[in-house]
Amino acid sequence: MIIELKSQATTEDLGRLQELVRGPFRTTKYLEMSGRRFIAISGARRDVSHDAIASDPAVAAVTSPDATTFFCRREFSPERTSQIPLGTQNIGDGKLRVIAGPCTVEGSDELYETARQIKRLGAHALRGGAFKPRTSPYNFQGLGFGGLELLAEVGRQVGIPIVSEVLDPRDVGKASSYVDMIQIGTRNMTNQALLKSLGAAHRPILLKRGSSSRLEELVRAAEFIVYEGNPLVALCERGIQTFETATRFTLDIAAVPTLRRMTHLPIVVDPSHAAGSRDLVTPLALAAAIAGADALLVEVHIDPERMIKPGDDAQALRIDEFAELLAQLRTVLAAVGRELAPPLGIGSHQSAVRPRRHEPNPLNVTSRRVVSRTR
Ligand code: PEP
Ligand code: MN
Repeated sequence: MIIELKSQATTEDLGRLQELVRGPFRTTKYLEMSGRRFIAISGARRDVSHDAIASDPAVAAVTSPDATTFFCRREFSPERTSQIPLGTQNIGDGKLRVIAGPCTVEGSDELYETARQIKRLGAHALRGGAFKPRTSPYNFQGLGFGGLELLAEVGRQVGIPIVSEVLDPRDVGKASSYVDMIQIGTRNMTNQALLKSLGAAHRPILLKRGSSSRLEELVRAAEFIVYEGNPLVALCERGIQTFETATRFTLDIAAVPTLRRMTHLPIVVDPSHAAGSRDLVTPLALAAAIAGADALLVEVHIDPERMIKPGDDAQALRIDEFAELLAQLRTVLAAVGRELAPPLGIGSHQSAVRPRRHEPNPLNVTSRRVVSRTR
């Protein structure tokens, strides 16, 4: 249940409302979001009088006790897609952005060369995995913080924001000081401990859809992050499990306009993991761009044959194929009245300066628990 306060609501009003909702197994949290003020109540049941709250003079609006999501729903921002920072640019401003790079950070030379080339061609961020979720313990698990250090250094030298996945809530704080955006992979979309730990990350989050999760579940997962105090979440469609085995997963293109209807959060599409083979990446990326994706996440490697983990090479675009993808994207976007966001400027390396800690949240979100009572 969420209560929206009128802007003039006072501390006394807050105290009175706390009394009204007080009850067993219930916690209450005060949140400020996009200049609006809220009390979010967990564990509200029918014994909370909706009418008494709704008629309180300090209350602007109140949801039903059954509401499962609020801050991420389209109704929270009916007219505007939320914009989330990616270095000096914003995802969600209507222009398409491209995040690209190797599945796994393997070494500094390849990474530097990949970053340099993708930036030259017009990519807006470098993505590489340092903590790798794997389906087998015998696959290369990534370089961990060593990989994040390499990414940060290459991002700084080349002047490109970086994105990388985090697997463990204990790593979120430290990882935030290296990356511009934290990726949460498909296997962790339902990991609530990890989602909750992102509330204090002060970094935008790229939240991938669980490969067997419904869109509603994806929006609910995002709601955990926003509820914990981080409103900077982009949702990523990356293919779902279906009966079809001709592709690695099935890219759910309908997810793009459907999520647009369900949520104001920006939408990213990853054609690479859905396809599993490079010849399918370009057509799927073009389809996502036409469907209205705010950004694409594409695996690119300067020399896929030399990739360490077998299998990953099959879906990575080579540099010339990535160049061709960007050329085709420009044509296709123009046909639907959209455009690729401008390339990163020479000066944009400032955005990747690290370490950065304790920065103010750009949307000025604060959250604090005002009542915590269980019995
Ligand atoms: C990845 O982005 O490299 C990755 C492992 O993605 P996913 O979580 O979508 O499988
Ligand atoms: Mn990958």
